[in-house]
Amino acid sequence: MARAEGSPADPATAAVHAGRIALPQNPASSPPIFQASSYEFSDLEDVEAIYAGERPGRIYGRYGGPNGTQLEDAIAELEGAEAACGAAAGMSAIDAALRTSVPAGGSILATREVYGGTYALLENDYQNSGVRVVYVDQSKPSAVEAALIRERPSVLYLEALTNPLVHVADLETLAALGRSHGATTIVDATFASPALVRPLAFGVDLVLHSVGKYIGGHGDVGAGIVAGSRARIDAIRGYLVRRGATIPHFEAWLALRGLRTLALRMERHSANARAVAAFLARHPAVAVVHHPSLPAHPDFSLAHRLYPRGTGGIVAFDLAGGAAAVDPFLRGLDMIAIVHSLGEVATTIAYPAVSSHRPLPAEVREALGVGPGTLRISVGIESPDDIIADLERGFAGSGYGARA
Ligand code: PLP
Repeated sequence: MARAEGSPADPATAAVHAGRIALPQNPASSPPIFQASSYEFSDLEDVEAIYAGERPGRIYGRYGGPNGTQLEDAIAELEGAEAACGAAAGMSAIDAALRTSVPAGGSILATREVYGGTYALLENDYQNSGVRVVYVDQSKPSAVEAALIRERPSVLYLEALTNPLVHVADLETLAALGRSHGATTIVDATFASPALVRPLAFGVDLVLHSVGKYIGGHGDVGAGIVAGSRARIDAIRGYLVRRGATIPHFEAWLALRGLRTLALRMERHSANARAVAAFLARHPAVAVVHHPSLPAHPDFSLAHRLYPRGTGGIVAFDLAGGAAAVDPFLRGLDMIAIVHSLGEVATTIAYPAVSSHRPLPAEVREALGVGPGTLRISVGIESPDDIIADLERGFAGSGYGARA
């Protein structure tokens, strides 16, 4: 701040203006955090040009900041998309993708294996409020086609790898069906991440993620992102800006930091998950293991074709002892924590009936194959031997030790 040399600053003014720094001329090797909600214009002509989009420049934090743009550019590149837009949460990304693709009075055809939070959104905020929602088994292309013909939906909503049973969507077939029946195909690829699958390459229109899962990877981010054509992303950005649901700067910074190791982590998550699935498949306390690396899984060959680098860290299994065995098993674990989320570097476990699938009526859960003894492990990047040793402790706690 300019002042006559030697004259003391007025503390009221100096506290506000002193210490401003110009950005260094040479770029920082890692991104600085731009925790700013306002940006300065040089004059009215500058204001006019930036608001009109004729000159690049920032306006206001909620409209998006440099950290959000860095993450969006990186995800767009990974997804092979024209553009991407960050959101305050995975749920805001889902809502924005749906709202900008479904007119009032329109309908959505959604996978019946939809994430519980998405089910709650569809049932509370779409169904019966101007948008009809119909569910379908995405593993049956003929059922999807029949529903597309019957319902004429504006959107076909899919999950790339389902929660918790890791069913694999045949993206190529389903995107082609959606396109030929005039529906916008939207895919939640949170469980796969862009390191394992790029749905847009199969003809999908929009791909989205809960960024706090694998992209962030360290259990410290709450954000979402959606990628697709520039026209669709412009509409989504407008929707998110109007609702105040754009990505916060610090979350974007953390997510980009996590993204730098995404490919390495996904490789390790996938390999560890295969080892855990093989271990569980041999264990007498386990009735069924749900993982596409096992020949008994219905999507064994599809996973091999669509996911040559692996299917990530999610493995589900049903305890032979059913609901009664769940609590003793969980109490026996030492290293593996019970958490709601997934995709972190640490191995974690969830009981879908009381967490992710809580909003679903019990009979709907059971029909999907999520039973009272189903547990979902998010296999981390630790040594696979240590993960398996902890699972052994769980089984010992539930009365099925290694000698059982
Ligand atoms: N999609 C999937 C597959 C999820 O598992 C989740 C959250 O668990 C979401 C979307 C919602 O994301 P968020 O919690 O970031 O809003």
